[in-house]
Amino acid sequence: MFQSYESTRSSNLKTTASKAVLKGIADDGGLYVMRDLEHKNINIEKLKDKSYMEMAEIILNEMLDDFPEEKIRECISKAYTDKFSTDEVTPVVKVGDSYITELFHGPTSAFKDVALSILPHLMTASYEMNDIKGKVIILAATSGDTGKAALEGFRDVKGTKIAVFYPDGGVSQVQKAQMVTQEGNNTFVCAIKGNFDDAQTGVKKIFTDEKLINELRENNKIFSSANSINIGRLIPQIVYYFYSYIKLVENGAVKMGDKVNFSVPTGNFGNILAGYYAKMLGLPVNMLICASNENNVLYDFINTGVYDRNRKFYRTISPSMDILVSSNLERLLYYMSGKNIDEVKSLMEQLNSSGKYEISHDMKKKINSEFYAGCVFMEETEKTIKETFEKYGYLLDTHTAVAYKTLEEYKRQTGDNAVSVVLSTASPYKFSRSVYESLYGEKDGDEFEIMDELSERTGVPIPVNLKGLNKKPVIHTTVCETNEMGNYVRKIGGIK
Ligand SMILES: *Cc1c(COP(=O)(O)O)cnc(C)c1O
Repeated sequence: MFQSYESTRSSNLKTTASKAVLKGIADDGGLYVMRDLEHKNINIEKLKDKSYMEMAEIILNEMLDDFPEEKIRECISKAYTDKFSTDEVTPVVKVGDSYITELFHGPTSAFKDVALSILPHLMTASYEMNDIKGKVIILAATSGDTGKAALEGFRDVKGTKIAVFYPDGGVSQVQKAQMVTQEGNNTFVCAIKGNFDDAQTGVKKIFTDEKLINELRENNKIFSSANSINIGRLIPQIVYYFYSYIKLVENGAVKMGDKVNFSVPTGNFGNILAGYYAKMLGLPVNMLICASNENNVLYDFINTGVYDRNRKFYRTISPSMDILVSSNLERLLYYMSGKNIDEVKSLMEQLNSSGKYEISHDMKKKINSEFYAGCVFMEETEKTIKETFEKYGYLLDTHTAVAYKTLEEYKRQTGDNAVSVVLSTASPYKFSRSVYESLYGEKDGDEFEIMDELSERTGVPIPVNLKGLNKKPVIHTTVCETNEMGNYVRKIGGIK
């Protein structure tokens, strides 16, 4: 009963939602997907006049079908009550002809908070439901944003400890300050002498280190990951698509049933995939607009049917989208191939061996009927930030600007004038320097000074969690070599 999830790569790995949350990734390396998603349905009429948390309850009950209702209610309440700077959680604002859903009002001012605030609670609920005892140690490697959002999400959550590894000198001043000042009695932060890939490889090694896993097991502890391929991170993101839509209905921008477009700044394809899930659940969505920066592997894929990661990697001013392998795309391939597991498996094997694959003509046609892709480079992104501020007094972050401009391109190219929503994934103050320079030209100096100056000149307030961050006491000072990461984790696990 309730074995509604299966791996994208083999049909004999069926499991429940709670076990999928526990495992994160399937044993065959595939991702968990809900098999009969198209038969599920959310009645949008019933969402009218509901709060964000009430909508979340209805949607999560549908998707996490082996969780008792009261457990889901409890998880939602713990995740969102007083954790976001607005009761709306994800407010929708009008900017020019479009709408922007602000996903950045959580404790770290980035959209990852929406999912990482609830994942820890879904995880501990899953442990209880499956009668697993002991403490969970969450490990994460981060290039900046995920680490802080995970630390904040797991902070002081009973039965868990969290360790985050970041590249020493490889994150921004603000990102570093966010992590090293992290409070909570179960949080651990360690800088690694190496780059992000070294940190990531180190974490992967620990996850498969049999000796270490056994030592921990004897000590009543298990590893888990806060990675974005966990369905516990994906599913909570469906909620704000419905929420945005209902707000548009409430303020008269659309009639119930009218279709709208969503433009999404995309990296790992998790955010926009949640939009496709919302559509499958019955949300009237016209086009899902996939916005990329210079690392436009998804733009090429959607427009040509060829996915090819063998290309130059660009460091851009929208670093959270600097990704060449978008893991969650595998889930889209599963649905777009008509759940043809053999086909997905073969494509993923090609990606592994040659870094490249090509989908069938049919599959490409189907993808093009749901997704439009565009890409916007740095100069255009900066121009968009400047123009949007000058025209509307609205300050876009660098990632959101990519999606905003891509939407304009889409409208120009297709003539589609349906009401459109841009998902805003970060506060402009998380990327103060780039935003400042887009408006006022090049600027040297300390990121925190630039943050203050950006606020003075634009009149847009700095989020409370970022303001004064440089004056908070530094709690985490550990720096280690990559080959010492295992021992760092042993210490956390209480192993001598
Ligand atoms: C993670 C992130 C993205 C990309 O989201 P995906 O779900 O990985 O596609 C975009 N913008 C910001 C600010 C992010 O932190």
